[in-house]
This record gives sequence, structure tokens and C-alpha cells, in this order.
Amino acid sequence: MSGRIQRVRHELKRRALQVVKVDQLAPNYVSVTFKGETLHDFVSASYDDHVKFFISEEVRRDFTPRSYDNVAGELTIEFALHATGEASDWARQAAPGQSAEIGGPRGSMIIPMDYTWHVLAGDATALPAIRRRLEELPKEAQVQVLVSGEEAAALPFHSEAQVSLQRYAESKELLAAIGALQLPEGEGFFWFAGEATVAAQVRDTVFTDKGHPRDAARISAYWKQGASGHHEDL
Ligand SMILES: Cc1cc2nc3c(=O)[nH]c(=O)nc-3n(C[C@H](O)[C@H](O)[C@H](O)COP(=O)(O)OP(=O)(O)OC[C@H]3O[C@@H](n4cnc5c(N)ncnc54)[C@H](O)[C@@H]3O)c2cc1C
Repeated sequence: MSGRIQRVRHELKRRALQVVKVDQLAPNYVSVTFKGETLHDFVSASYDDHVKFFISEEVRRDFTPRSYDNVAGELTIEFALHATGEASDWARQAAPGQSAEIGGPRGSMIIPMDYTWHVLAGDATALPAIRRRLEELPKEAQVQVLVSGEEAAALPFHSEAQVSLQRYAESKELLAAIGALQLPEGEGFFWFAGEATVAAQVRDTVFTDKGHPRDAARISAYWKQGASGHHEDL
């Protein structure tokens, strides 16, 4: 991928943090705010970024910096809870006062705001990135949001941009909607994150069936059914 995307590197740092706030935003969706002096120079230049969240020295998982504040020394991560997983189990029991550690982001892919149109799509794991991007986009941006899962139905989507929002219960309905989507005229950017098999089908639909240019899209597997800590850009 190249096009108009700007790739920047950040100094890789590990930061020791403390949990200061936990909010249950939906039945299976928890927002955790961390605090630490080490966050004074934390940088996340893109909604597409991730930090490594250390559950132990051996177990680390990728999460989106949902929001951060260098002055307050705070970082918020939103965890989609699922049946079995160490990060999910950690988030389910998270409480103020607990210690945590993160690494990164190692770099950022900065996706310009001035595309004629934007599509943001994905499952519960994509919601932190999508909700962050919606808050960042300017009011003239034309955005189509397609999301799946019960969390998507429960969460608000705040934006100054012109947003059309479609929520689906299941990823197969989301896939069908992406298949039926008429990509608007003009230069646009297509962003998707979700389960690996679904992401592969989205890739085929968007690049092969619709002929959308690869350098104006980011389609990622944020997890894979039956695998731990899977990350893949398609
Ligand atoms: C760049 C990037 C950013 C991400 N940002 C976020 C974020 O902000 N918030 C967020 O919640 N997740 C995010 N994810 C996804 C998250 O890293 C994975 O869901 C991760 O696998 C969770 O770790 P775990 O220890 O709970 O489960 P794992 O040990 O990795 O997996 C255990 C089992 O659970 C399954 N599983 C994993 N994730 C899910 C899921 N979401 N739903 C159902 N089953 C699952 C696996 O298939 C496996 O069978 C992101 C991933 C990437 C690559």
C-alpha cells in the first residue's frame, strides 16, 4: 500500500500504567482508562494504530488507542469481550488500581482526511478505531459506516462529518451489505477490520469485484477464529 498514505515511525517504548477508570459501555464491551507519567510523550497519529498490551511477558495482544491525553497522562482502550482469551479475561476483571503495561505504537499509517468519501467497516474489534476516526473527521467528510455485532447496536457514534450508519447483527449480513455497496464517485478510502475469514472475503469483494484500488484501502484481520493474537493486513 502506498498512494497518499503517509507512514511514520515512532520510538518504541514500553510504558508502565495504572488503571484509573473502567466503564462497561455495552454487555460485552469495556472501556479502560490507564494513567501514567510515561504517557506524557505517547503518540498515536492514526486511528489505524495499535499498542501491544502485555498480559504477561509472554502474552501480548494488539489494541487500538481509542483516545489519549498527554497532559493528563491518560490513555483509553476499549475491549470487546469474548468467550475465551487472556486479554478479554483481563478486561472483564479490570478495576482501578491495577497495573498494566503497553508497548508502542511502533508506527502509524496516516490516512488523509480529504478523500471524497470514506467507508469504515468492521466488527466489535474495529469499533474503537471507527469511533475514533469518526470523531477526527471534519464536517465535510462523507462517511459510510457498516458495523456488525451487538456492541455496535449499543454504542453511540459521534461525528461532525456526514455519516450514514448501518448496523448488522451478524458478520454475514455485513458481508452482504459490503457486497451490495455502491462505492461513490470520486477518490475514496475503504477501511475494514474484523475476523480473518471475513476480512479475506471483504478483500475479494472490494479489490476484485468492485475494482477499488489497493492503495486506497486498508483491510485487516484483527483476529482469527481458533487462533490467538492474529494480525494480518490483506
Ligand atoms: C491492529 C489491531 C487493533 C486491535 N484493536 C482492538 C481493540 O481496540 N479492541 C478490541 O477489543 N480488540 C482489538 N483487536 C483485536 C484483539 O487484538 C483480538 O481480539 C485478540 O485476539 C484478543 O486477545 P485475547 O487474549 O482475548 O484472545 P486470543 O488469545 O487472541 O484468542 C483466544 C480465542 O478467542 C478467539 N477470539 C479472539 N478475539 C475474538 C473476538 N473479538 N471475538 C470472538 N472470538 C475472539 C480466538 O479465535 C481464539 O479462539 C485489535 C487487533 C489488531 C490486530
